[in-house]
Amino acid sequence: MKRLPAVFGPVKSRRLGLSLGVDPLGWPKVCSFDCLYCEIGPTKVHTLVRRPYRPTSEIKEALSQKLQAPELHYEVLTFAGSGEPTLHLELGELIAFAKDLTDRPLCLLTNSSLLWKKELRQEIKACDIILPSLDAGREETFYLLNRPVKGLSFLKIIEGLKKLREEFAGEIWLEIMLVEGVNDSLEEIESLVSLVKRIAPERVQLNTIDRPPAYVGLKALSLKRLEEIATLFEPQAEVISREALQKKGGKRSPQREEILALLSRRPCPSEEIAQALSYDYQKTLAILEELVKKGQLKTKVYERKLFYYL
Ligand code: SF4
Repeated sequence: MKRLPAVFGPVKSRRLGLSLGVDPLGWPKVCSFDCLYCEIGPTKVHTLVRRPYRPTSEIKEALSQKLQAPELHYEVLTFAGSGEPTLHLELGELIAFAKDLTDRPLCLLTNSSLLWKKELRQEIKACDIILPSLDAGREETFYLLNRPVKGLSFLKIIEGLKKLREEFAGEIWLEIMLVEGVNDSLEEIESLVSLVKRIAPERVQLNTIDRPPAYVGLKALSLKRLEEIATLFEPQAEVISREALQKKGGKRSPQREEILALLSRRPCPSEEIAQALSYDYQKTLAILEELVKKGQLKTKVYERKLFYYL
């Protein structure tokens, strides 16, 4: 199969808005886990070895070119892609490079498996938002669901997340992927709640399967069950499944005039615009992109968020 592009999007992300993606890995899928629910498919290179999985110079070149496109509009730049991005040995160099090229918040999606490495935490500290995942409250569930590479312990991962919290000045948005009958028992959730308290992320986001998983026979949780589980976290977790966001975002189609009227009073981030006007979030992102390209809206970054204004 052909290697995937090093820079992709922007894509309309449910968690981050209009996200320009950087994939340091390419193809085949390289990961330290082989999660039952993975939407990319089974892991092809199951490893904990950090090395340059594609030439860093090639990723830099692709990013520079993309950022020069006059029509480009995006809200955040996200390191993610076909596997676990922290496995790329020169991730720190890429983050520093991107920081010099853009004022947009830099985000990193990670499965948390390498955060126990001090040098990695140093490399990623220039990010604005780190979005680690933690799906299990107990070791046996971790092995069953995430299927880590040999030698990777659950305790090491928890230690890494706690250290990240101590050292990282940006925001941590922790994602928990829930699968029916695997990690949704009360016992499991209580263990997760207690671990999350110690990690203290800014946001806890609950998700469930909504695309074909790597391995068959898995079931998503209902929205009702996700909402019940969310109340067990302190403060309450957000539910970010597709169904939850469709319900929360409202069904109205965005109107250009209403958006412009709202922004004539005060600058707003995209999430707030969709909420204030009960709009579908994905459609709102598309209209904001269009208005920026036409020069009817401007943008500025303030406290890790992109604001739109007239
Ligand atoms: S950590 Fe992410 S990329 Fe790796 S197997 Fe799990 S879901 Fe897939």
